[in-house]
Amino acid sequence: MSFIVAIDGPAGAGKGTVTEEVSKRLGLVNIGSGSAYRAVALETINKGIAINETEKIIDLLDKIKIEFGMKNNKDIIYLNGEDVTERIREKDVSQTVSQVSSIKEVRFKLNDIFRKCADGKNVIMEGRDIGTYVFPNADVKIYLDATPEERANRRFRQNKEKGIEMTYEEVLENIKMRDKNDMEKEIGALAKAEDAIYIDSTGMSVEEEVQKVLDVIGKIN
Ligand code: C5P
Repeated sequence: MSFIVAIDGPAGAGKGTVTEEVSKRLGLVNIGSGSAYRAVALETINKGIAINETEKIIDLLDKIKIEFGMKNNKDIIYLNGEDVTERIREKDVSQTVSQVSSIKEVRFKLNDIFRKCADGKNVIMEGRDIGTYVFPNADVKIYLDATPEERANRRFRQNKEKGIEMTYEEVLENIKMRDKNDMEKEIGALAKAEDAIYIDSTGMSVEEEVQKVLDVIGKIN
């Protein structure tokens, strides 16, 4: 039997940061679905495939190896054996990932990987369609939200810390573009599951968000 916490929401709502922290405090396996979609987008860039070459992207899926791990107490993602945790946060990947993740074959392949990774484990997983599509029977479902401006501000600050060059306006535009693409997807669109608990994190610190999520898990568990 596994215990599954599904956290969905738009880009920059704090899902990644909060999920990593909650996973450590509760000893849950953390599977970052957004990172996996970013890894596929990175592979298309590495192979020089254009975003509209859908068939070539689908062909890539059989040759791609995505693995999750831990290094120095940090979550790591490997693409074909290489640590790409930092690389997948860069601008070129952020600009292509929502189109790559709209391809249904990409979604089927990654959902397969996610379900295998979670099998028999106690897991926390963040994304866009975890509570609605990947794990519709998750034990806890949370939808984490914040205003686009607040989300852009957080991503802008994160990028700065990581040395990623993007202006605040570029980040806000990218977030709005991804919100639109993510909500209009044919399969796995960003949506709040009917039975998910809604948390608006606008104005909250990371610790406040973590506490709120821990409270929800504690009440349901
Ligand atoms: O969470 P993050 O911003 O890293 O996600 C990157 C992109 O991956 C999203 O904009 C979305 O297009 C895609 N994604 C998805 N389904 C998920 C998680 C992420 O389509 N479950």
